[in-house]
Amino acid sequence: MEYVTLNNGVQMPLEGFGVFTIEDLDVCEQAVTDALHTGYRLIDTAAAYFNEEAVGAAIKKSGIPREELFITSKLWVQDAGYENAKKGIQTSLDKLGLDYMDLYLIHQPFNDYYGSWRAMEEAYAEGKIRAIGLSNFYPGRLTDLTMNAKVIPAVLQAEMHPFFQQTDAIENMKQFNIQPQAWAPLAKASDEILNNEQLKMIAENYYKTVPQVMLRWNTQRGVAVIPKSTNKERIEENFNIWDFSLTDEEMATITLLDQGHSQYIDHNSADSAKLFNDWKIHD
Ligand code: NAP
Repeated sequence: MEYVTLNNGVQMPLEGFGVFTIEDLDVCEQAVTDALHTGYRLIDTAAAYFNEEAVGAAIKKSGIPREELFITSKLWVQDAGYENAKKGIQTSLDKLGLDYMDLYLIHQPFNDYYGSWRAMEEAYAEGKIRAIGLSNFYPGRLTDLTMNAKVIPAVLQAEMHPFFQQTDAIENMKQFNIQPQAWAPLAKASDEILNNEQLKMIAENYYKTVPQVMLRWNTQRGVAVIPKSTNKERIEENFNIWDFSLTDEEMATITLLDQGHSQYIDHNSADSAKLFNDWKIHD
């Protein structure tokens, strides 16, 4: 396992475990338990995943010292704004059963995220969060918020995999020393990516799998990854990426696979703004 040092000095594992779509709390607790047993130390959840309690339960039962863990959660669109975000932060802490979170992100670039950021800056100053960041903010929004913030975001989490590489967005993050972290780093294990001939050929060179090559490629270019799985073997497979390196030629081959657009959603579209503002996670 490798770590990166964030722009505020906090150390973050370059690989973590994501729990999006694992809404069954027992299944989630078991998956996080398996991940922690495998060696993952970063767990990525969100208020909108409805499983912060299960993550908290697995952490507690693991017996792993709190300071060895790196726990991320995210503020949902409905809870944007200064007062709402203060409540949202406390709700996540309570559900996780923690005194502090290691990283807290604004989940989507919609609603009053400037108010949210002020609440997050305060919680950061109070020690309730060790690092604050953003998710799904594309370069224009990221630059604007960063230029008007007291605390520069430490992490930007966004879709990043071989079919959507976000090279320009990463360059923009680098200008502000913001660490990129990839969601859907396996491109959700679609048939198209798992059967890609170039990725399969590279995987064969190392007796590795296509998912392992995808994770290695992102981490090797300095992008953190948070693959999700509920299957113990695949959880282990995805963690087994630290004993090989891709050559410059293989990295260049993967660069050519970029399709230059999201496989799932355009956060700049009016439809996305409407969808996310309408998406309620509580009364
Ligand atoms: P992903 O990690 O790219 O892919 C997950 C899918 O791949 C699951 O269907 C999983 O199925 C399958 N899979 C996992 N390992 C595999 C392997 N070795 N071989 C074959 N299939 C494999 O997608 P994701 O869950 O969307 O993204 C990862 C994490 O990023 C999320 O869990 C969440 O924490 C975060 N995320 C954040 C945002 C955001 O807006 N900030 C959005 C999406 C995701 P099995 O479970 O059956 O193995």
